[in-house]
Amino acid sequence: MANQRKTVLITGGCGFLGSHLAETHLKDGYQVICVDNFSTSTQSNASFLNSLGTDKLVIVEADVIEPWSTWADSLPEGWLEDLSHVYHFASPASPPLYQLLALETMWVNTIGLSNALSFADKFGARVVFASTSEIYGDAEVSPQTEDYKGNVNTLGPRSCYDEAKRFGESLLFTHNWKKNTKHGMVRIFNTYGPRMNPADGRVVINFLVQALQGGPLTIYGDGSQTRSFCYVDDLIRGIRTYAASKFCEPINIGNPSEFTILGLVQEVEKLFAPAVFERSFHPFPQDDPRQRRPDITRARTQLSWEPRVPLADGLSRMLDWLKTQPLS
Ligand code: UDP
Repeated sequence: MANQRKTVLITGGCGFLGSHLAETHLKDGYQVICVDNFSTSTQSNASFLNSLGTDKLVIVEADVIEPWSTWADSLPEGWLEDLSHVYHFASPASPPLYQLLALETMWVNTIGLSNALSFADKFGARVVFASTSEIYGDAEVSPQTEDYKGNVNTLGPRSCYDEAKRFGESLLFTHNWKKNTKHGMVRIFNTYGPRMNPADGRVVINFLVQALQGGPLTIYGDGSQTRSFCYVDDLIRGIRTYAASKFCEPINIGNPSEFTILGLVQEVEKLFAPAVFERSFHPFPQDDPRQRRPDITRARTQLSWEPRVPLADGLSRMLDWLKTQPLS
């Protein structure tokens, strides 16, 4: 049975979330194959995984939109016969990086996902696709339940990410329908924690890097827009619980505690108290969602999962890690 198998393949395995998936699986004794083209992930995450000193890790440098046969044939013997899950987590995920790599973002979530589905089917493994709260777009309801169909602009600066993820969900759903498979998808809300690329550009890492450098903190718009931030350990526990389940429908994984961006500034300042940082205000980006908060009723009831780490604790852990990193 797939769930007794001991190999997982993680696309984007040297990225932020991918490296945490890899770490926890290695600690649980799995054979882990990370496939990454290092377009937004870091060599330092690869070094971290290698430093776990295991012979159960293989890191393949490859683009998952290209045929997988070029590297699959050279994996250690027997690993793929033991393949349990393919986590399709390769994709730029921050607005600046997915806008920089806009076409690559579209292909990795569509062609890359298609490759992941075919590959998993060959070995009887289950795909878990990293979908996103972005599929709700600039939501007109809050909190967002999985039934909410979204408010997304097909032609804006975020559409390369949002619509590619939406197509990915449809592709996976249709693949299950037509091929009678049981692949799944999680809708990931804003997540933070160690091993985020310091140059990623998302708000939590930006604020911590900026605070370490003495400010100012960059605020887009007036800072009244909201996000709900989930600590990475909570998120990974949720994803792994989902992966081990038989659910195919999407489930929101995120922390429902909602903060305005100005509220996040205050949380960051508490870590550096008594410092108060200058705020540097910038134009509000087009199509930036005004309000985002997951309804996690489905995760609570179907997976018995909920987040445990409050924002203040998670920020403090992330800051401890960031202080050990070189900042340019
Ligand atoms: N943001 C900000 N300053 C920054 C980075 C982001 O005010 O330095 C805002 C951004 O406009 C958005 C929110 O913070 O409203 C979250 O942005 P992020 O890029 O982290 O992720 P998103 O949820 O938009 O994908």
